[in-house]
Amino acid sequence: MNLKSANATLSDADRERILKRDNYQCRFCGSDKNLDIHHRDGKSYSKKGSDSNNEDHNLITLCHQCHLKLHAQQKKPSQEVAKRNENILKYYQKGMSYRAIGNMFHLSHTQVMNIIHDLKQEAV
Ligand SMILES: [Zn+2]
Ligand SMILES: [Zn+2]
Repeated sequence: MNLKSANATLSDADRERILKRDNYQCRFCGSDKNLDIHHRDGKSYSKKGSDSNNEDHNLITLCHQCHLKLHAQQKKPSQEVAKRNENILKYYQKGMSYRAIGNMFHLSHTQVMNIIHDLKQEAV
């Protein structure tokens, strides 16, 4: 029995194919220990079970360390997004409506609402 892990949606054949393509090495640091297969589109956890994201171009061999680092990075908003969100909060505090802010940043007013909601929770 295989361990059901992050790559549960990936078949052994897919895994072997990608490992072979990448010479059984982490594509970031070259390590050949504790190798994982990473989905570039981040959808390996999708419950919908579509295999379409198991295409070669979407899969990359990473060692467990690099894999964890990558996922930790992906969870944080990029600097650009963080800066944008700061501005959104500023306009909100000046009394602009969600919709007006959304128009400025090309977001829906629901997206603006969610961003502000998250930011306010962080600030507390
Ligand atoms: Zn991954
Ligand atoms: Zn690595």
